[in-house]
Amino acid sequence: MTTLDDLPLRDELVGQQPYGAPQLHVPVELNVNENTHGLPPAAVEDIARSLADVVRGLNRYPDREFTELREALAAYLGHGLTADRMWAANGSNEVLQQVLQAFGGPGRTLLSFTPTYSMYPLLAAGTQTGWIPVPRADDFTVDPDAAVRAVREHDPDLIFLCRPNNPTGTGMPLEVVEAVVDACRGVVVVDEAYQEFSDPGTASALELLDGRPRLAVSRTMSKAFAFAGVRLGYLAADPAFVDALRLVRLPYHLSALTQAAALAALRHSDEMLANVDRIRGQRDRIAARLGELGFDPHPSQSNFVCFGGVRDTTAVFDRLLGQGIIIRDNGIPHTMRVTAGTETETTAFLRAMAELAPEQA
Ligand code: PMP
Repeated sequence: MTTLDDLPLRDELVGQQPYGAPQLHVPVELNVNENTHGLPPAAVEDIARSLADVVRGLNRYPDREFTELREALAAYLGHGLTADRMWAANGSNEVLQQVLQAFGGPGRTLLSFTPTYSMYPLLAAGTQTGWIPVPRADDFTVDPDAAVRAVREHDPDLIFLCRPNNPTGTGMPLEVVEAVVDACRGVVVVDEAYQEFSDPGTASALELLDGRPRLAVSRTMSKAFAFAGVRLGYLAADPAFVDALRLVRLPYHLSALTQAAALAALRHSDEMLANVDRIRGQRDRIAARLGELGFDPHPSQSNFVCFGGVRDTTAVFDRLLGQGIIIRDNGIPHTMRVTAGTETETTAFLRAMAELAPEQA
């Protein structure tokens, strides 16, 4: 049987593992930070109708510039954005990959403050971009002075700032973003995949875009929008930055079905986002209860809670799975991550944790 070792794989991919949280179907799935609430019925109907309309025209390639969708995304984000400052791709992962294809590559480097989103080093490897992990403080915040020192020391071509940060949930004041952009001669992407879950009133890095052509902000419909299955990530930046991404995208990379589904969902954005408050409530409930049980939850601005103080993460993962509950063991010692689900899902998780606490907290 042929194995990977028999194939002439690129050197930097040898020994790497594909990204892969387990995709197990159990009653309570809280491991990949999805919005576990279903789609609102009115949105489902509109999306289905829109897709049916598009099917008749599927013999033709889709709008390569997805202009209508870019207009709708700009309108959704506000901040005076216009279609020429918007970009989208199949998930924000693809957006970030395109950024690396355009601005990274051999001899260039990407810096991030770790622990952070585990795809960044994989995307760097896939585009032959050097990876520079700079550790966060013990409480997972990024100190602006330390950040500026690290940027000056490493002089990276790109910086990805995950805000709020996955897997820790940590927010980041806009002053840190500003300081990093000022200190960096390269491109800075603020990954705001979880921005909608931040405390109401938390400013977005979109506010910093004007006059900063090397700054971009990426977002996704996978989380707050409850639209992970559609694969729609997007980015706001200067029109010139967007032109750079147009150089590396594959022709017609956003299918007509994706464009139609995303457009229909955006027409229902208020309803699509209706569960964000509830999810925040469950997140805070998880943090409070895990603290009472003797675990060490970290403050979260996101739709998940990262908690330390776990004696044996593998044992906790297995025990929960045995009860039909899956959460994330993401390799930070004694630390796990759980997505805030519905009230019922959260209750199931917290009950199971209360049983485990005497031996594991
Ligand atoms: N950024 C962060 C921080 C994420 O956690 C994720 C998904 N886990 C993504 C980007 C990618 O999301 P998607 O490709 O579904 O838009």
